[in-house]
Amino acid sequence: MRSRSQYLREMGLTPWALTTDTRGIASQHVEPASSDVEPLGKVPPSGWASLQQQVGNCTRCNLHTTRKTTVFGEGDPKADWLLVGEAPGAEEDRQGLPFVGRAGQLLNRMLFSVDLARDEVFVANVLKCRPPDNRDPFGEEVSTCVSFLHQQVTFIQPKIILAMGRFAAQALLRTDQTIGQLRGRIHRYPAYDIPLVVTYHPAYLLRSPQAKAKAWDDLILALAEFDGAAGSENV
Ligand code: SF4
Repeated sequence: MRSRSQYLREMGLTPWALTTDTRGIASQHVEPASSDVEPLGKVPPSGWASLQQQVGNCTRCNLHTTRKTTVFGEGDPKADWLLVGEAPGAEEDRQGLPFVGRAGQLLNRMLFSVDLARDEVFVANVLKCRPPDNRDPFGEEVSTCVSFLHQQVTFIQPKIILAMGRFAAQALLRTDQTIGQLRGRIHRYPAYDIPLVVTYHPAYLLRSPQAKAKAWDDLILALAEFDGAAGSENV
């Protein structure tokens, strides 16, 4: 694994020019409000291909009228790490793959810094279709599409989830809290007790490079939780 300063250099930052507010970074577990948790869709044994087909043919919300293609997600369907972003952008819409533009390149570098390769993780979005002009998703689009994401979690059963950006964090945790309120601690994905860490969306990091240091702290928090869980499994 790279050091923090190596990571920051790879991210185009000089480490000594940054101060990182690590207050509040603690492995504090937050229990989900289980009474708020709706039952998640069951994925039958042959479900992954079927789920891909359902997404590919989906017309449940208006975004199907403006998309070029759906973006199901990419990676190992049995990955330990699930990374969730907001929605496809223009390039993703063209290629049918998540995080292939500049934000995707930054995400790859972030993963590299903690010795993770893209094909070792699964990367998905809350929305499987691109909102026109990259506008924010509407609430009803999120609430309509998010069941696909919940079914992906059900199938993958990751050991850790990294929610990148406000929409991913709020959809996965079923909360309206802000990124600032959600970062810096371990949450639990409702229903499966999967540890979940909230961080910034790579597209935001491109616009706000000073936040890359905080994203490093988030990655280290997730890694520590993952390593701790893996260690306890081997005892
Ligand atoms: S965004 Fe989701 S719910 Fe809407 S059409 Fe695309 S796959 Fe279906």
